[in-house]
Amino acid sequence: MALTEDELKTLSYEPDAAGHFGDYGGRYVSETLMAALSDLDQNYQMLKQDAEFQRQFDSDLANFVGRPSPLYFAERWTNQIGGAQIYFKREDLNHTGAHKVNNTIGQALLAKYSGKPRVIAETGAGQHGVASATVAARLGLECVVYMGADDVERQSPNVYRMKLLGAQVIPVDSGSRTLKDALSEAMRDWVTNVDSTFYIIGTVAGPAPYPQLVRDFNAVVGREVKWQSKEIFGKYPDALVACVGGGSNAIGLFYPFLRDTEVQIYGVEAAGRGLSTPEHAAPLCAGRPGVLHGSKTYLMDNADGQISHTHSVSAGLDYPGVGPEHAYLKDIGRAQYVGATDADALAAFHEVSRVEGIIPALETAHALAYTKELAASMRPDQTVVVNMSGRGDKDIFTVAKMEGISLT
Ligand SMILES: *Cc1c(COP(=O)(O)O)cnc(C)c1O
Repeated sequence: MALTEDELKTLSYEPDAAGHFGDYGGRYVSETLMAALSDLDQNYQMLKQDAEFQRQFDSDLANFVGRPSPLYFAERWTNQIGGAQIYFKREDLNHTGAHKVNNTIGQALLAKYSGKPRVIAETGAGQHGVASATVAARLGLECVVYMGADDVERQSPNVYRMKLLGAQVIPVDSGSRTLKDALSEAMRDWVTNVDSTFYIIGTVAGPAPYPQLVRDFNAVVGREVKWQSKEIFGKYPDALVACVGGGSNAIGLFYPFLRDTEVQIYGVEAAGRGLSTPEHAAPLCAGRPGVLHGSKTYLMDNADGQISHTHSVSAGLDYPGVGPEHAYLKDIGRAQYVGATDADALAAFHEVSRVEGIIPALETAHALAYTKELAASMRPDQTVVVNMSGRGDKDIFTVAKMEGISLT
C-alpha cells in the first residue's frame, strides 16, 4: 500500500465526499446522526470559505489563545544529546496550557455560526471538558459536559474548573463509569437535541466531518512552523515529532508538511508497559483496522472483536483508537508510527524539566522520549521540531505518586 515519493508529493490529502481517507474514516452511525453529520459537513464546507468566520477564528487564536506560539531552540538539551538541533513548538504556552483550545475555539465558532446556542462534550481526564467549557464561556454558549462517575471523582480539580467556567458537569453512572460511557451519553444527548446543540469532539477521531474539521483548526500549528523554521534556521525541519492519542496535535503539525516529502514525520504512541505486553495504547503500532466511534481506523481489540482495555501513564494517550487520517498516512508510508513506554516518557519528563526549565505534559513526554533517540541518530546540521503539546502542571500529582511522594 505504500506510495512512491512522487505520488506522496502530489496527493491531495483531502478526504472524499463521504469523509474517507483511503479505506479509513467515513460515517458508521445511525440514520438520525447521519442527517446531523451531513448538515454539519455542509455548514463547515461553507464557513471554511467565509471571510468573516475565518477573521473571527484568527482573531481568537491571536487574542484569546495567544498565538503564534514560539518555535523555541532547546539548546541545552540539543548539546547534551549531541545530534540534530531540537526545537520545541510551544503549544504549552497557549491559554489553558495545551493545543486542544485551537480546535475547541473553532468548533464553538461553528456552533455559533450554525445558530446552535448549546454545546456538549464528553471528557475522560477532563482536559477536553475544560477546553470546551472555556470556549463556551468565551462565546456565551450553554455547555454540558458528560463525564464517567469514576472520572468525576478522580479528576475533581478539572470538574471544579468546568463549574467555575459556567459548565454543567453530568456524571455518568452506567457501565464502567468512565470515558466510553460518557461518550454514549453525549451521543444520546446529541441525537435528542440536535436542532439546538453542537457536539464538540476532542480529537481527530469520530465520524466525518470531525477528523477533517478538527485537523483544519489545529493545522495553524504546522503553518506557523513553516514560516518560523524558514525565519529561524532558513529551511524546513528535517523531521517532525508529535505524540498521538487521537492524533489532533500530531496532525496539526504534520498536515501542512505532507507534500514536503523531504520532511520526515514521526507519530509517537503510548507503548505503556511495552508493545509486546497487552498494557499499552498503541493501535497503529500494534493494533488492526476496524470500526470505532463512527469511523474506520486502527484500533486495539481482542480475537472476538471486543475493544481492549488500554493502559498509559498519560490519560490523554489512553485511547484504543486513533484518527483515521493517521491510519491512512501509516498505510501509504507518509508518516511512521513508533512507541514510547511509560518509563521512557517519565525519564524524558524529568530530563526536559531539568535541562530546559519546561515541565512537559506526560503525553508530550512520549514525543520527547522518541525525539531524544531520533536526534541522537541525526547530524548536527539537521533539525527536529517536536510538538510541545501541553504543559505538565496537571501531571505533577501522577508523577509524584509514582515516585512514592505525597503532595497531599
Ligand atoms: C489531549 C492531549 C493529547 C492527546 O490528544 P491528541 O488528539 O492525540 O493530540 C496530547 N497532549 C496533550 C497535552 C493533551 O492534553
